[in-house]
Amino acid sequence: MKSMRGKRVAVLGGAGFVGSHLCERLLDDGAAVVIAVDNLITGNEENLRTLNGRPGFSFVKADITERIPVEGPLDYVFNMASPASPIDYAQLPLETLRVGSIGTENGLKLAEANKAVFLMASTSEVYGDPLVHPQREDYWGNVNPIGPRSVYDEAKRYSEAITAAYGRTKGVQVRIVRIFNTYGPRMRLNDGRVVPAFVGQALKGEDFTVFGDGSQTRSFCYVKDLVDGLVRLMLSDEPNPVNIGNPREMTIRQFAEAVRAAAGGGGTIIEKPLPKDDPKQRQPDITRARTLLGWEPKVPLEEGLRETIAWFREVAGTKPPA
Ligand code: UDP
Repeated sequence: MKSMRGKRVAVLGGAGFVGSHLCERLLDDGAAVVIAVDNLITGNEENLRTLNGRPGFSFVKADITERIPVEGPLDYVFNMASPASPIDYAQLPLETLRVGSIGTENGLKLAEANKAVFLMASTSEVYGDPLVHPQREDYWGNVNPIGPRSVYDEAKRYSEAITAAYGRTKGVQVRIVRIFNTYGPRMRLNDGRVVPAFVGQALKGEDFTVFGDGSQTRSFCYVKDLVDGLVRLMLSDEPNPVNIGNPREMTIRQFAEAVRAAAGGGGTIIEKPLPKDDPKQRQPDITRARTLLGWEPKVPLEEGLRETIAWFREVAGTKPPA
């Protein structure tokens, strides 16, 4: 069976939330070399604190839209680089478009030069505000091409297109993962996403800011489960997109109650304006991940939230509610 043992791997976006967990998992699996590349615009070197000093690990501060200063040989290139929260990509629209387009092509060229396998971290956002539910990989999506989310959605759609084209025309072995909502330690408390927002509010005893009436749904996957899916996909032979996410779907109001229960605190629910083009429903169909990769999520929401809350309490220095 294939494994990461002894392999040489580059993780673009390696100092981000998902990227840093991936680097850790690769080292745990016995990779000989793990090179994290990040320009730190939304990533954070602090995420790599426990990895610095581990044999084989190194960090390169670089913008992959300019040049990727990584020496081969390489067996695998993971492209996890992009701002990923709606607030981040609204504030960094051109950076988001460039990293998904130019950055992805630079990553593909790095893989091509090294005959490495390239994995593109795409997103459930390629389905936009989906008219098909749950979302299967053969659904082409419902994306507003000029709306506020388009800088992310269209960049990721382009990155899938160029990844597929390098696979078809340049002989690069490619993988495409569509990542659904993921949570866990190392999310930024102020990145605007619902998990850090609600956890922060619960820990400070503040009201939960539900956007709209809170009837929109999401399905939350713990980061360790996601990373296991990424490694399995990379080691598979599957060139076509695979959804990785947790199919347990809930409304945002239900999610606020789940965070309140796990944290043992928080105020009431207050409604705030719903952002434009906010998807009304989202749930992965993971039939392909199950059958092709033997993957499914294992960590229940309650357990993942406990881990996440404990981390926010400790590291982010938020005090437990009185
Ligand atoms: N949301 C919310 N309150 C917040 C932050 C987000 O109700 O403080 C909602 C948001 O409108 C969306 C869902 O929670 O419907 C998930 O938002 P997030 O930004 O985490 O990710 P998305 O899935 O929209 O990319």
